[in-house]
Amino acid sequence: MPISATPITTLHGIGPQLADKLARLDIHNSHDLLWHLPLRYRDLTRVTPIGGLNLHSEALVEGIIRGCNVVFGRRRSLLCLIQDGTGLLSLRFYHFSKAQQQQMLPGMKIRAWGEARRGGSGFEMYHPEYRLLQNGETLPLADRLTPVYPVTEGLQQPRLRKLVEQVLHNITKESEGDALPNLLPAKLLPAQLNMALGDALHYLHQPPVEAHITQLQAGEHPAQQRLAFEEMVAHHLSLLKLRQQQKHEPGISLAQHSGLQKNFLAALTFKLTNAQQRVINEIAVDLQKSEPMLRLVQGDVGSGKTVVAALACLQAVANGKQAAMMAPTEILAAQHFAQFQRWFAPLGFHCVWLSGSTKTKARREALAQIADGSAHIAIGTHALFQDDVQFHNLALVITDEQHRFGVRQRLALQKKGQASALPHQLVMTATPIPRTLAMSAYADLDCSIIDERPPGRTPIQTVVIDNQRRATIVERLRSACAEGRQAYWVCTLIEESDVLQCQAAEVTATELHELLPELRIGLVHGRLKPTEKNAVMDAFKAGELHVLVATTVIEVGVDVPNASLMIIENPERLGLAQLHQLRGRVGRGTAASHCVLLYSKPLSQHGRERLAVLRDSDDGFVIAEKDLQLRGPGELLGTRQTGAINFRIADLVRDAHWLPQVKHCAEQLLHDYPDNVDALIRRWLRSGERYART
Ligand code: ADP
Ligand code: MG
Repeated sequence: MPISATPITTLHGIGPQLADKLARLDIHNSHDLLWHLPLRYRDLTRVTPIGGLNLHSEALVEGIIRGCNVVFGRRRSLLCLIQDGTGLLSLRFYHFSKAQQQQMLPGMKIRAWGEARRGGSGFEMYHPEYRLLQNGETLPLADRLTPVYPVTEGLQQPRLRKLVEQVLHNITKESEGDALPNLLPAKLLPAQLNMALGDALHYLHQPPVEAHITQLQAGEHPAQQRLAFEEMVAHHLSLLKLRQQQKHEPGISLAQHSGLQKNFLAALTFKLTNAQQRVINEIAVDLQKSEPMLRLVQGDVGSGKTVVAALACLQAVANGKQAAMMAPTEILAAQHFAQFQRWFAPLGFHCVWLSGSTKTKARREALAQIADGSAHIAIGTHALFQDDVQFHNLALVITDEQHRFGVRQRLALQKKGQASALPHQLVMTATPIPRTLAMSAYADLDCSIIDERPPGRTPIQTVVIDNQRRATIVERLRSACAEGRQAYWVCTLIEESDVLQCQAAEVTATELHELLPELRIGLVHGRLKPTEKNAVMDAFKAGELHVLVATTVIEVGVDVPNASLMIIENPERLGLAQLHQLRGRVGRGTAASHCVLLYSKPLSQHGRERLAVLRDSDDGFVIAEKDLQLRGPGELLGTRQTGAINFRIADLVRDAHWLPQVKHCAEQLLHDYPDNVDALIRRWLRSGERYART
């Protein structure tokens, strides 16, 4: 019987109460139990001499109790002093019972497990787990590493360990092939990972004494990598399947309208780049088909994605259909709205605005126009996919700066189409996510790349400067503004009280006011009301402000070509991708642009290298690849950049080097072993995480 079909209650010792507790951990059957992997491990296979303890590492010790007393320090505690042939160690308990105290008698032997910390004299362990040994009793040592599982209240480690042991025992008994069918044929696995699934699971639940514990803790053991690989394949398949299913739905064929397009292009103040033209053509071909388009447009910041989106919208509205465009922030959405109105109103098309802060009356009006079709293009934030938004005939859905949204949100907006046909989907991202990651996170989409910037831009000069030279930078700001240029001063957090000690935007704004009384300085941050935010942004755009002090709210999309200087405080706090994105706010006009990365000391070697990457390159893809390398294992990309993919074992950064093979493997499976596909997806993705029907 496949293991997923074995209900948990068929195991020994599981009654309804325990089953309830397991359910809280999302464990409903033997399969779930087996996939409930240890968080870390304990080495209870050997006793460490007290004299050989290392600060902050966990160890098993054994010694004779020399004394046990309640002490009254800042907090009352029970202090038990133990000794072996190599030294003395204190065991400290803040919570203890009378009985506990009475049992710990001098002269008794005790074995304890805990973390060695610095105490008043020598090392201490707080609340170690311990066992008292009766006279002459010896305790056997563990013969393998002890797993530590995620647990929940009322469910202890030993209980969980026993249950997992039972399942492991059952699968070896019941010929593993049936319980855990091998869904990835060996020839599709990378050679280093060629291991049966059952063996890998077995190893991770019960690693042998000689197992490499640091490798295990880092998730880099081949057994973990074997599982991570299969998991990434399952996710990839889930997206490929989503794609297959969507491509099967009827779409809405949208003919190109050359007359309107001509008028639109004629009104533009610039000529399209070749890259823009190519991508626009790719989209136009997709839109004419009667199957839904599923396309990602990747283009570095400033490459001109907005006009590409607009031309896609034009093809929809020219056919009497509606289009919707969703952006992740109010500022960005508002800017798109204003731009689209300028482009579309002269052609007789009507744009409406919808965001979370749209007032009741305006909202009602917008909803009515979206529903009766008098609104041709709806632009806004995620407010667009709320339940009460009903479209008349939505044919195209665009999400801008997709990395802020997950797959699910993008699908939610697509569902706003008519039941009879699926809207075309266009996703635009400037996320300099490395191609390998993009391949995985957007496996359901075709990809177009705008790999060329509009002409006439002077490259941005980036310098890395110590905050101690702040006064020089303020002077530079003064002279730049005196020459009629505008500048951004970006602070990484809002309030000074913040633990990260970042310079506060408010404080900086005040400081700059005092230092530069002749300049008009505006302030924009996430806590302002949208109307206030817009007012400040508008003033900056109109050239009424010289300097815009801002938090990272300006990160995406803001477009003020006259701004040619950007100062970023504490850039060491931000990811490279985010910094690149921020920097892309300047260098949009013809003036030579500058970006100053104003860091605070001390800056680690690593931090220095990261900022140097930015100083030396202006190419989003190069920066992204470097960022990935520099972050190294362990540090997550963050949900923002991975589209909120929730992995059990895999780590997209740590395991990114497998992605090309993951892609290949998933495609082969879909082609040659279609029967394995659903089973693999079900094995790895919890039902709520599956994108496609399985
Ligand atoms: P992003 O790809 O970052 O979204 P935008 O679409 O905001 O870039 O475009 C950045 C700026 O470049 C805008 O001011 C836009 O009007 C301008 N732009 C776009 N395409 C061209 C082009 N082909 N030639 C000149 N300027 C362009
Ligand atoms: Mg943009």
